[in-house]
Amino acid sequence: MLRTHTCGELTIKNAGQTVTICGWLARSRDLGGMTFIDLRDRYGITQLVFNMDTNKELCEQARKLGREFVLKATGKVTERSSKNLKIPTGEIEIMIDALEILNESKTPPFTIEDDTDGGDELRMKYRYLDLRRNSVKHNLLQRHKTGQAVREYFDANGFADVETPFLIKSTPEGARDFVVPSRLNPGEFYALPQSPQTFKQLLMVSGFDRYYQIVRCFRDEDLRADRQPEFTQIDCEMSFVDQEDVMSMFEGMVKHVFKKVRGLELPKFSRMTYADAMKYYGVDKPDIRFEMKIVDLTLDPRASLPPLASGSVVQGEGGNSLVRGKGFKVYDDAELVGGICAKGCAEYTRKQLDELTEWVKRPQIGAGGLGYIKCNADGTLKSSFDKFFDEAALKKIAEKFSAKAGDLILILAGAEVKTRKALGELRLEMGNKLGLRDKNKFECLWVVDFPLLEWNEGEQRWFAMHHPFTSPHKEDIGLFNSLPFGQPKVASEAHGGGASPRANAYDIVINGVEVGGGSIRIHNKDLQQQMFKVLGLTKEETEQKFSFILNAFEFGAPPHGGIAFGFDRLCSMVINNEDYIRDYIAFPKNNSGRDVMLDSPSQIDEKQKKELGLK
Ligand code: ASP
Repeated sequence: MLRTHTCGELTIKNAGQTVTICGWLARSRDLGGMTFIDLRDRYGITQLVFNMDTNKELCEQARKLGREFVLKATGKVTERSSKNLKIPTGEIEIMIDALEILNESKTPPFTIEDDTDGGDELRMKYRYLDLRRNSVKHNLLQRHKTGQAVREYFDANGFADVETPFLIKSTPEGARDFVVPSRLNPGEFYALPQSPQTFKQLLMVSGFDRYYQIVRCFRDEDLRADRQPEFTQIDCEMSFVDQEDVMSMFEGMVKHVFKKVRGLELPKFSRMTYADAMKYYGVDKPDIRFEMKIVDLTLDPRASLPPLASGSVVQGEGGNSLVRGKGFKVYDDAELVGGICAKGCAEYTRKQLDELTEWVKRPQIGAGGLGYIKCNADGTLKSSFDKFFDEAALKKIAEKFSAKAGDLILILAGAEVKTRKALGELRLEMGNKLGLRDKNKFECLWVVDFPLLEWNEGEQRWFAMHHPFTSPHKEDIGLFNSLPFGQPKVASEAHGGGASPRANAYDIVINGVEVGGGSIRIHNKDLQQQMFKVLGLTKEETEQKFSFILNAFEFGAPPHGGIAFGFDRLCSMVINNEDYIRDYIAFPKNNSGRDVMLDSPSQIDEKQKKELGLK
């Protein structure tokens, strides 16, 4: 090794030793008689001292060094007179008597500090410099630790890590495929896997029993903060299990990871049906760190969402609406009138309410307006629709929310699905404003009983909500069998785009972020074929796309099920309790799917095109 120690390990215990360290020049200060250099490597920062009195030549050399020069320095570890107790090496410095410049550096395009002056695009272009910064470096090292914890858990539980191919055929996860032209088969293409879904199922048919893989997946989708065109999954599958077995195994994994990486003991995960999540939180991935549940004021049987076959269909609790028939047309006509109660916000000013109104009217939220009831400290009630509602009527509404003096009730009205979603967004916004989304708190939740299918009005057909290999809930198999498959129009009329059977599917949600999802699969050929039919695939299409798995199901497929976690997302949650995955990926792509460092995607040359048979 070129060094005896790293820049992060020398402490007062090493005082008196002669050491050699290597690293990058982070900062230097010239104080006349003395020059100080902070030398940085992956492990930390150590202060080097050059003294004009004892070694003039060396000190003058040190003064000329620029930022990010790579140095090798030798000297004696000495106790510092002014200590920096914020860093582990802050009690010592090294009195340098030999220095070697291992490499020079151009001045970096941005400062390599926690608080850098470099914008996003610039940092991505020079990502290798960005990765020298503490925050991103920390994230990647913690990501490594997270991966290790995952592997440790799976190994201890008998899971085998099996690799699956990247050059495959389309997998139906619902996104667009990335495709790769085949030179050896002109005019033909591979698809990159959106997930190893079918392979892991085939491994169960092979008898592997417990499989996992930390694996790259590719989906050609529009990008957001929590999405990348290539991302990593922790992909898992188990045989001879039911839903409870799978959930308990992977709850164990998440707990193990939090313990190993953060030293945190997570309590038992909560459970919620999809129907309740939509009803009370307006979203299928509720943040349950705080309550503020959505209250339905229409109490109208028409308000039935989501369309599930279970007993948990969302409905009003009778016909006695609290908002209809008061002469307020907006509420009379709306499919849903619902609200949330923001504790202690009755003092909101006109300006604050106007801002909130603007917020709900933004196209992303799409509400027509915002109604409110202020529950004043003196017990009186003041609403934005006082013209139509007397004090008694307002009181009834306030009671419905269990609102107390000092609270503010916020109300949205409109079409069912859209309004519920908007209420869910408003709930999160108010949660942010009130500091209820505590960064130090983790609330894990299983969302269960998802609908198996989703009706697409535009295409007039059913889509698999999870993917087509997900099995229908035992209790809803009758309903599944009765779906008029292969006749999409009829299905629309018969079901009004509603009434999907429930699925044996589950999502794992941490603080409102969906970190994983899976299902118990279909393992029977007939049922699988029927599923493809319901999804509107013709016999030929089924044959062409999925004959391999249907064939496999004829050779003794065991009952099986599994799950996949978004590894990038899990890391961002575990490490920093946030939902911005780019800072947890070494070389991510930007919002247009570009790698600005490589300048990719890019043109290929004519020769390559010709070889691939492309025009
Ligand atoms: N393959 C699924 C996905 O990528 C996960 C699973 O069902 O295991 O979402």
